[in-house]
Amino acid sequence: MKDDGKNNYNIFKPIPNSSGIERLTLEHSIRKALQLDEFVLYYQPQIDIQTGDIIGTEALVRWNHPTLGLIPPAKFIPIAEETGLIVPLGEWVLKSACIQNQIWKEKGFPPMGISVNLSSRQFSKYDLVETIKEILLETHIDPQYLELEITESMTMNVDVAIEVLGKLKELGMQICIDDFGTGYSNLYYLKLFSIDRLKIDQSFVRNIMTDSHDADIVATIIAMAHKLGIDVIAEGVETKDQLDFLRSQNCHKVQGFYYHPPLPAEHIEQLLMKTVA
Ligand code: C2E
Ligand code: CA
Ligand code: CA
Ligand code: CA
Repeated sequence: MKDDGKNNYNIFKPIPNSSGIERLTLEHSIRKALQLDEFVLYYQPQIDIQTGDIIGTEALVRWNHPTLGLIPPAKFIPIAEETGLIVPLGEWVLKSACIQNQIWKEKGFPPMGISVNLSSRQFSKYDLVETIKEILLETHIDPQYLELEITESMTMNVDVAIEVLGKLKELGMQICIDDFGTGYSNLYYLKLFSIDRLKIDQSFVRNIMTDSHDADIVATIIAMAHKLGIDVIAEGVETKDQLDFLRSQNCHKVQGFYYHPPLPAEHIEQLLMKTVA
């Protein structure tokens, strides 16, 4: 299941009902935007709540449109996935995120992870491994700091996915299941793939203080992750109460507006300078 993409962007109308013509126009615009280098990455800090340190960031793409301004991914990722443009766009995201993470390292900040979202469309292509190998060579990023976030989806070809994942693991990367709890065969996937981390979906985190069911689900996912020796992070943490609940359940890594929204690279650097100082 995908996010509704509401967040802070509800000024934009959702795309699903757009006509064929609109889709074609949008496809053409995305292609052009790639050529004109109009996409930008924002980075959302991931926090170790025991130390308060930024332990990594998640790269989240936006379209910096010359007249419409900053367009959120919910407006163009679905079309990019449908048209296959997610492959070149995803490659741009991967490479740019690795370059940025290396820039931070070269500036002397403590090494931290960079998480990149992969759509299942990218994931079920064998070339992904070659593409990533090239990016590792070109950017010199240490693969242990590169985390790939994948979501389970019905469209994923499991055999291809197992093989691709195996090769990516051999290269030394981290694999995280994003939106954990919302997909199709979560537990089955845990058995099939060697997963390093689970990211608890924000739809559960949102209600932990009001819905005891959701609180139980979150607590159970955390306990299961611990038992299986898999790292766990919660996303969409917005309040102190949510944070305290997660802490009480021994989930010590979080991402969310309570700490920081996704931010431009320069802004991340200011935050890093504060923590180093
Ligand atoms: P996601 O991977 O689940 O990313 C988390 C989304 O939650 C982000 O929305 C982030 O801004 C938002 N978020 C973070 N903290 C909070 C919080 O405390 N409260 C709330 N309400 N929301 C929070 P964003 O950046 O609009 O991205 C939406 C989705 O677009 C992502 O969901 C991901 O599925 C997709 N996406 C973004 N960048 C990429 C990309 O480079 N490649 C692919 N394939 N998908 C991407
Ligand atoms: Ca999501
Ligand atoms: Ca994600
Ligand atoms: Ca997510």
